[in-house]
Amino acid sequence: MFRTRLLLAAMTAAITSLSAGAESPKTPEAAATPASAAANPLLKASTLQYQAPPFDKITDADFQPAVEEGMKQHIAEIEKIANQTDAPTFANTIEAMERSGALLTRSAKIFFALVQANTNPTLQKAQVELAPKLAAHRDAIYLNAKLLARVNAIYDQRDKLDPADKFLTERYHRDFVRAGALLSDADKSKLRALNEEESKLQTAFQNKLLAGTQDGALKTKDKSDLAGMSEGEIAAAAAAAKERKLDNTWLVTLQNTTQQPAQVELTNRAAREKLFKASIERTEHGDANDTRETVVRLAQLRAQKAQVLGYPSYSAYSLADQMAKTPDNAIKLMTDMVPASVDKAKSEAAGMQALAAKDQKDFRLEPWDWQFYSEKVKQTQYKLDESQIKQYFLLDRVLQDGVFFAANKLYGITFKERHDLPVYQPDVRVFEVFDADGKSLALWYADYFKRDNKSGGAWEDNFVQQSALLGTRTVAFNVCNFTKPAAGQPALISYDDVIAMFHEFGHALHDIFSNTKYPTLSGTSTTRDFVEFPSSFNEHWADEPSVFANYARHYKTGEPMPAALLEKIKEAGTYGQGFATTEYLSAALLDQAWHTQVVDAPKQDVDKFEAAALKHFHIDYALVPPRYRTSYFAHIWGGGYSAGYYAYLWSAVLRDDAYYWFKEHGGMTRENGQRFRDMVLSRGGTEDMDAMYRAFRGRDPSVEALLETRGLKAPKADSRAGG
Ligand SMILES: [Zn+2]
Repeated sequence: MFRTRLLLAAMTAAITSLSAGAESPKTPEAAATPASAAANPLLKASTLQYQAPPFDKITDADFQPAVEEGMKQHIAEIEKIANQTDAPTFANTIEAMERSGALLTRSAKIFFALVQANTNPTLQKAQVELAPKLAAHRDAIYLNAKLLARVNAIYDQRDKLDPADKFLTERYHRDFVRAGALLSDADKSKLRALNEEESKLQTAFQNKLLAGTQDGALKTKDKSDLAGMSEGEIAAAAAAAKERKLDNTWLVTLQNTTQQPAQVELTNRAAREKLFKASIERTEHGDANDTRETVVRLAQLRAQKAQVLGYPSYSAYSLADQMAKTPDNAIKLMTDMVPASVDKAKSEAAGMQALAAKDQKDFRLEPWDWQFYSEKVKQTQYKLDESQIKQYFLLDRVLQDGVFFAANKLYGITFKERHDLPVYQPDVRVFEVFDADGKSLALWYADYFKRDNKSGGAWEDNFVQQSALLGTRTVAFNVCNFTKPAAGQPALISYDDVIAMFHEFGHALHDIFSNTKYPTLSGTSTTRDFVEFPSSFNEHWADEPSVFANYARHYKTGEPMPAALLEKIKEAGTYGQGFATTEYLSAALLDQAWHTQVVDAPKQDVDKFEAAALKHFHIDYALVPPRYRTSYFAHIWGGGYSAGYYAYLWSAVLRDDAYYWFKEHGGMTRENGQRFRDMVLSRGGTEDMDAMYRAFRGRDPSVEALLETRGLKAPKADSRAGG
């Protein structure tokens, strides 16, 4: 939910807000034959309500020519802004840039939405050809020296602007500066060289990790090693071996995390140990796939980059434009949680140890036993039956009587399904959203069912972004991967799916309620460590008693879910949080340890550095190793989340802390919802995220609520009082 959404955001942000990181441009290939320009419906704004995409008129061949024409027009607009002879003003430069690129934004947003949710070979080919062109397009804007000079001039006079314009000016200036636009020529070439080396090393890391993960698969010729796995899984292991031309062999392939799914099932303890070691050593065999040299140099060169850009460490550079602002803030959030998390993990370990020792004298729990006994404890304690639960979650009832019902209670909005607006696939549904006063507010599309041509996971984005400047209203969408029922059968979903619906709709509310002037700061265009807050916050209403009772009804009888079953779901939800939080914190703190190194730090030994860092943060609990160890931590070395793995937790803290504000102030009331809408959901990225949060909460975020929600700490008596 998190990664996919950010990936999408990064792709569209590169176009619409000039804020995302760019790949180095490659030689573009020849464009596909353009469709007749006159017939291309993307070339003009849609005449449908809120400029909803005319999916009944757009063909696959329309996208590439429209995006390419969009880049051409955008560059022409940018050059006109940069080359004008009038003295630079906010209106003729920054506001003008906000107005520019309409065709590119329109066509690229629809294009990338379809590439993710409903792709085909034509779209994929266009994607490969457009990606480097879009990256080069971004560079062409940032490296425009005349444009930079105008932005600088406005920035120097920014105190004369009103707060919103000043904030946007600072944002533009910062994005130029962070791209290195203000450096001397010597430093620019130093930075370019470091960037080039970094991108090569990141690719090298990814390739080594890919090969190391493939080679690291558990191979066995003894079928009894696989005892506990299902017949289907054993057959898949045989097929995987055959594919690699290994006879009479079974292959258990590795997934990206330290712990492997098969650990849950493997009854043969030696096999569990073998699989675990294969996982943690996958890129540490001293062979061509060993990543340790690569990551040590990556950490070093990022420190050098930070120095060129004027920061004490790479993490300091990376977090400067985030809500966390400094590595110390991110680290403190995490270290504050370490004692409770490790204690909880230890108590989980004690429960497993006791269970295992019942029939194995002298048994001592090891990290490779964790998943196996954790599952056993869960089955013994909670006895959850998924098929029984699903009968209470009929998709359309969850949507209308759950997701919409909660939004109505909090924000007063109502929904009406629209059958007249065209969709890109027959399963997609469209709803018009009306405000509390009955006025039309936005459009929202739901694409819930799994398809072969849809990416995995769930995400939210928009076809049209709200902006008062451009006169646009939100046209947002949610995409999920729920199993589609056979024809004539009811769509029954799992509780995880229910949570996903509330989560993605929370993102949609952030876009729907957006009430900002500038598109760059609209809706979900916030920092990386804030964007998951409104969405995960919305999850909290899924099990609010008045909401749950309204939608969780048996699909045949309409009977509400028995209270005992709901209680079991809730209890099972907090089991295992000690482990989950500890393995996450270990990895996120390792990320900070590597990226807070100063430029003249000595060259590190990876394993020693890792052990020392975990010890330093008091999270060196051998039974729960990091979710990713240094040598296979793709989030931070492959790009994307370097110094940013903490962001998942940052948003989660806000989620639970904000929910507690509601509990302390009378709970799920219309008044509280309005306040949250006014102070958070409508504001997009128009001010510093921490100031925005502080204004809403009346203080800085506190980690207490998250600790209690995860069962890492007993609730204080008074925090439950508000209802
Ligand atoms: Zn999300």
